[in-house]
Amino acid sequence: MNVKEQLLDLKPYQPGKPIEEVKKQYGLDKITKLASNENPFGYSLKAKEVIEANLSSLALYPDGYSTDLREKLSRVLGVKESQLIFGNGSDEIIQIICRALLSPGKNTVMASPTFPQYKHNAVIEGAESKEIALINGQHDLDGMIEAIDENTQVVWVCSPNNPTGTYISKDILLPFIERVPKHVLIVMDEAYYEYVDATDYPETVQLLEKYENLIILRTFSKAYGLAGLRIGFGIGSESFIKQIEPAREPFNTNRLSQFAAIAALDDQEFIEECVSKNKQGLQQYYQFCEEHQLNYYPSQGNFILIDFKQEGNEVFQYLLERGFIVRSGNALGFPTSVRITVGTQQQNQEIINILTGMLATRKANV
Ligand code: PMP
Repeated sequence: MNVKEQLLDLKPYQPGKPIEEVKKQYGLDKITKLASNENPFGYSLKAKEVIEANLSSLALYPDGYSTDLREKLSRVLGVKESQLIFGNGSDEIIQIICRALLSPGKNTVMASPTFPQYKHNAVIEGAESKEIALINGQHDLDGMIEAIDENTQVVWVCSPNNPTGTYISKDILLPFIERVPKHVLIVMDEAYYEYVDATDYPETVQLLEKYENLIILRTFSKAYGLAGLRIGFGIGSESFIKQIEPAREPFNTNRLSQFAAIAALDDQEFIEECVSKNKQGLQQYYQFCEEHQLNYYPSQGNFILIDFKQEGNEVFQYLLERGFIVRSGNALGFPTSVRITVGTQQQNQEIINILTGMLATRKANV
């Protein structure tokens, strides 16, 4: 059999070690996972009620058009129902976009480091990825414009950016969008949208009327806490959504996720609470970093990238042996950093205590 040549060099997604295995290996009773920017406060009880109420209807296929969720979300966002596309997580919308637009001979432009699925899917489609280095953790939008040529199909903008947590302000984003040629799709990945509190963060949905070559990605996996159900969506121009819809499989979002997302949208109190606790959690980390003179990027997401000026894998291992799974920066393009998902106040404090101990030992050994 001959699989696509480009697949031979790709590594499949590496899930972390199973929690039970880590417990056994290090003799721990409890493991806390703060590695994938999930919501440490779970998800809305309203969504839970709906999920439980619908458990008996799983013999039926889901509504392939997500009609009720579509209707609800179009009202919430103030867009037409035909401007929405739903995916098995926003991961799947990324895949659909790549499937629909990329092929050998074409290219796509993105920041580096950024969310790795843009490149991963581009490689599978045989397209070239032009990766433009971040400058001080920020997208180099001028560099990205320069990289665009007549074969460019898609430019990816991740704001807040994973793994830095940095965002792009309105006054910088708008001239960029204006400069992107009309034949190039601009993907604004706003997976962490709900957490943003910067007052100059652009409301990109309003731009859709003017720019047909724009699509915005959002998800129920982060602030809404429904990562396990897999549901995300894209908001774009009616004509573009119509063109990519055939690349979506017919029953890609499941029954429970559609019902739960509708209920979750109705519980904005839960979101506000999580966002507020996340903000306080970030403050815990900022204070810790300042006390220990560690560099970090102020984050608009629910995670923080901290530079420990030592191998990220070592810091990762130190925390793992003490019951906390985080993400080593080695795999994220920041080899001396780790990315920590902001947890509950207590989880943050526990991690900070462990890291304080680690830094004290390091100082003593110098
Ligand atoms: N975009 C970004 C920037 C992300 O960080 C993630 C998840 N880590 C995703 C998209 C995909 O999220 P999901 O598929 O769960 O919606």
